[in-house]
Amino acid sequence: MIEFEHVVKRYSGRTVIPDLSLRLEQGRITVVIGASGSGKSTLLKMVNRLEERDGGEIRFQGRDIRSFGVEDLRRRMGYAIQSNGLFPHWTVARNIATVPRLLGWPPERIRARVDELLEMLDLPPAQYRSRHPHQLSGGQQQRVGVARAMAADPEILLMDEPFGALDPVTRASLQHEVRRLHQRLGKTILLITHDIDEALFLADHLILLDQGRILQQGSPQDILSQPASDAVRDFLGRDD
Ligand code: ATP
Ligand code: MG
Repeated sequence: MIEFEHVVKRYSGRTVIPDLSLRLEQGRITVVIGASGSGKSTLLKMVNRLEERDGGEIRFQGRDIRSFGVEDLRRRMGYAIQSNGLFPHWTVARNIATVPRLLGWPPERIRARVDELLEMLDLPPAQYRSRHPHQLSGGQQQRVGVARAMAADPEILLMDEPFGALDPVTRASLQHEVRRLHQRLGKTILLITHDIDEALFLADHLILLDQGRILQQGSPQDILSQPASDAVRDFLGRDD
């Protein structure tokens, strides 16, 4: 569904991704894990063209992503970020409706979709629809961020450490929600984390990234049972 082929990325002449090839299969949760600065967010942002690659090719459904308009691409890919990125002066409903409004959905359809998503994420609409982000807990804000990413029913969900900075209990409950949503909707998901337990729990396919290079990729089971190198073993053994 998405393929990277020999992708190169530089910032001001400094190469952060020297030569990256990978595939995100349809309907699968692919998790990218790696240390801070290893290029995870850069990788994800190249998928929806928040960053442009400097070499190689990125294809979406067999076509170069540059052949899609940026807006079309972003409409088809929901994007949730670590800091949740909610607009503080907008209500929960308005935040979730960002993309549907851009797409010109009629108000009744938007309202029905917002309520449906709030229900799905255990935020009773009557109670939460009109609140502002500062009137929500951190975990609730994260859930609204995920709802916003899903609002226009994108083909792919891109999630960059969507549960960062949450307490372990909230984090675990959101991880279960992602699994549940995935099982129900079968979305293609690319999720980034630096938490190995989260990665092992969520991934159908796990990619370990180090300085812009893939150390190893495969199912969590394969990586756990056959780490390819000492670096991978260190990674799996590290507990931070
Ligand atoms: P983290 O876990 O801390 O979020 P990451 O794996 O997401 O890290 P990236 O944000 O992709 O890492 O950054 C990869 C490298 O590129 C880092 O060395 C970073 O300093 C650099 N970098 C990222 N964005 C820019 C930018 N806009 N300009 C210059 N350098 C950048
Ligand atoms: Mg990052």
